[in-house]
Amino acid sequence: MDTESTWDVIVIGAGLSGLLAAARLQSGGARVLVLDKGRGMGGRLATRRTGPAVFDHGAQFFTARDPEFCSRVDDWVAAGIVKAWATGFALADGTFKQDGETRFRGVTGMSSIARHLAQGLDVRVQSRAAALATRGGAWVVTTEAGECLPGRALLLTPPVPQSLELIATASFLPPERVLGELKQIEYAPCLAVLAQLSGPSLIPQPGGLWWEGEPISWMADNQQKGVSPASGAAVTVHAGRHFSRTHWEKPESEVTGALLAVAAPWLGSVPVHTQLHRWRYSLPLRVHPERCLVLCETPPLVLAGDAFGGPRVEGAALSGLAAGAALARLL
Ligand SMILES: Cc1cc2nc3c(=O)[nH]c(=O)nc-3n(C[C@H](O)[C@H](O)[C@H](O)COP(=O)(O)OP(=O)(O)OC[C@H]3O[C@@H](n4cnc5c(N)ncnc54)[C@H](O)[C@@H]3O)c2cc1C
Repeated sequence: MDTESTWDVIVIGAGLSGLLAAARLQSGGARVLVLDKGRGMGGRLATRRTGPAVFDHGAQFFTARDPEFCSRVDDWVAAGIVKAWATGFALADGTFKQDGETRFRGVTGMSSIARHLAQGLDVRVQSRAAALATRGGAWVVTTEAGECLPGRALLLTPPVPQSLELIATASFLPPERVLGELKQIEYAPCLAVLAQLSGPSLIPQPGGLWWEGEPISWMADNQQKGVSPASGAAVTVHAGRHFSRTHWEKPESEVTGALLAVAAPWLGSVPVHTQLHRWRYSLPLRVHPERCLVLCETPPLVLAGDAFGGPRVEGAALSGLAAGAALARLL
């Protein structure tokens, strides 16, 4: 193996967990390469612009409870990347649910957190890892485009079913018990409608509406949130888990029509353009107890992401930090 062209760590996934792990490793002196199959970075921290309208269509906000994560969030707030959004939202029955816990958002959208973290890192987007192998004591990642990228260690941060698909391409087989635990990690799907409106919505201040049910679980007004400009009225509608499952294969027009019909009392203006995003893996329904999982020590192979240690944005962040620390020890 040509060590000159070998990275110390190849990170698959430029979501929050992968980027935090990569930054931790690079700051410790490691040569790190991050690959992501998406057009942009951030994974489920996703922001999309359509004409004048800007939508957060994946994670809507996050909370911070663990002291390590709270101190990261303080840094992001100080850097102007993140700000407090709200401590409660309206409910669909017209009441307001206030619990005093701060929900944070990306100042220009949730994906701005990823772009901030990626500064100074070697991140290659539109680069899908297609196969894994070991050669000469290192991992080799073959991309869909046919590139063979060698790394002394490998970190996988995609949702667990996608990481397992990648692991299945390598001759390496994790212990039966571990594999069994990983196969039990399932995710809720989420159908997300992005609706550009002709004018302002009727979603109450500060721009979020908790439905907490079916067929809609959440609506957000991206203009009130401060993500979409005054010229771009933009509402995100997240379908509930059951609706998303039962309508997963249905045509876009049918799904969008059904959800916007239910959302109509809160739209207040006419949808002038709509898009549907299908999140196959939105939130893990079960979480592995460890913050990251060392599947192999030589050469190191570690799994991380929001299915390890704790779910959601905070869980993903803590998992990425734990994976970075674990890999630094193993290198
Ligand atoms: C609709 C929705 C609503 C949500 N709402 C909230 C919320 O309000 N609050 C909250 O805290 N959390 C929320 N979440 C969850 C939150 O977004 C995630 O927990 C967190 O962003 C996960 O980060 P991650 O790094 O673990 O994974 P991801 O962000 O999924 O990153 C994994 C990355 O791996 C990449 N990848 C996968 N396979 C490959 C491959 N073969 N090659 C290269 N790259 C690959 C993907 O493109 C992706 O970028 C929501 C998620 C969704 C989808």
